[in-house]
Amino acid sequence: MGIVVENVSKQFGSFKAVDQVSLEIKTGSLVALLGPSGSGKSTLLRLIAGLEIPDSGKIWITGKDATNQSVQDRNIGFVFQHYALFKHLSVRNNIAFGMEIQKVPKAKIKARVEELLELIQLKGLGDRYPSQLSGGQRQRVALARSLAVQPKVLLLDEPFGALDAKVRKDLRAWLRRLHDEVHVTTVFVTHDQEEAMEVADEIVVTNKGKIEQVGTPAEIYDHPATPFVMSFIGPVN
Ligand code: ADP
Ligand code: MG
Repeated sequence: MGIVVENVSKQFGSFKAVDQVSLEIKTGSLVALLGPSGSGKSTLLRLIAGLEIPDSGKIWITGKDATNQSVQDRNIGFVFQHYALFKHLSVRNNIAFGMEIQKVPKAKIKARVEELLELIQLKGLGDRYPSQLSGGQRQRVALARSLAVQPKVLLLDEPFGALDAKVRKDLRAWLRRLHDEVHVTTVFVTHDQEEAMEVADEIVVTNKGKIEQVGTPAEIYDHPATPFVMSFIGPVN
C-alpha cells in the first residue's frame, strides 16, 4: 500500500495534462516517471502531492483516500529542480526547519540533524551556509531537509536537472544508496532515460498525459510495449 492513482485526470483549459491515469506504486520502492517534456510528469507528481486537485479519479496514499486531503495531511516530502534552501540559515538549521515547525524536542532535532548530515555525507559541513556549498551538496541538503520530518512518501521533480552532467551522475548513485538505507516510497520525475534506468526499481513511461508502460528498467528496455517506448527508451543511436 504505497500510492494508488485511480483513473485520475487533470485538464488545463482544454488541454489534458493527465488523462485517466491509473498507477500503483509499491511501498518502499523507488519509481521514476520518465517521459518527454510536456507529457504530464510534473502534473502527476503534483496531484500525488496535493498541489493540484484532480478533475476526476482518486488518489490513495498508504491505504488512505488522500484525494481531498490537504498537502500538509499527506505527510509528503517534496524536492524540486531548483532547490529552495533558506539562504540565511546554516545547513544544520535548514535541515532542522521542518522539525522545529512540528515542535520536535530540541535534543531530538539535534540528534536527527547529525544523523542526516552523516546520511547525506556532509558531516562537518553543518555550520556552512547554502552559498558555501556546491549545487550537488545543496540538493543533498534539500533531500535531507525533506527526509527530516520522516515523510511517508518522497516526491522529487527533476531533482538533478539543474546540475552539470558529472554531478548528476554522482547524485544518481548517491540517491540509489540513500534509498537503500531509508526505504521511503519515492517517486522521481526525469526526462533522462539513462537516469531512470540507473536509479529506479520501476519506470513509468509517460506520453501525452497517459502511461505507455510500467516495468523494471530491464523489462522496459528489453520489451518496449509500444512504438513510443521503443523510440524513447531504445538504444541511443
Ligand atoms: P512535464 O513535467 O512532463 O514536462 P507537465 O506536467 O509540467 O509536463 O505539463 C504538461 C502540460 O500541462 C504542459 O504542456 C503544460 O503547459 C501544461 N500545464 C501544466 N501545468 C499547468 C498550469 N498550471 N496551467 C496551465 N497549463 C499547465
Ligand atoms: Mg516537469
